[in-house]
Amino acid sequence: MKVLDLQCSHGHGFEGWFASNEAFETQLADGLVECPMCGGKEVTKMLSAPRLNLSAGKEAGSPAPAQQSQQEAAQQQHGRWLRAVRELMASTEDVGDRFADEARKIHHGEVKERGIRGQATREESAALAEEGIAVMQIALPAALKETLQ
Ligand SMILES: [Zn+2]
Repeated sequence: MKVLDLQCSHGHGFEGWFASNEAFETQLADGLVECPMCGGKEVTKMLSAPRLNLSAGKEAGSPAPAQQSQQEAAQQQHGRWLRAVRELMASTEDVGDRFADEARKIHHGEVKERGIRGQATREESAALAEEGIAVMQIALPAALKETLQ
């Protein structure tokens, strides 16, 4: 069981549950891994703790924004994130705790393919991953949770 920190080309971060690293690579190559927020298939593994740039040394990847605009950039990013999550909420069906069942049915073609969201326990997510069903998980901002029933 592998829980991977993933990111799409738009910078949406999410977690993906897979049976193994190989399963991730295979499902990625088959186009089965997509960003839960925008459906983007250009998904890459994030480096561990990519936002924790605590060292003063040089950083791999994008150049750090100028000091004074850092907070502003963080706020903008947070705003984009909230918008993307709201869109995701609007475009998926809430199946609640039937998530694992529904994901299985969709995977096996028993019901129409559609975007679903809901709750799954770690055990359920792990079981789905073992069956080759990619489960993407995003952490909902607390502010947004309160507005949901
Ligand atoms: Zn995305």
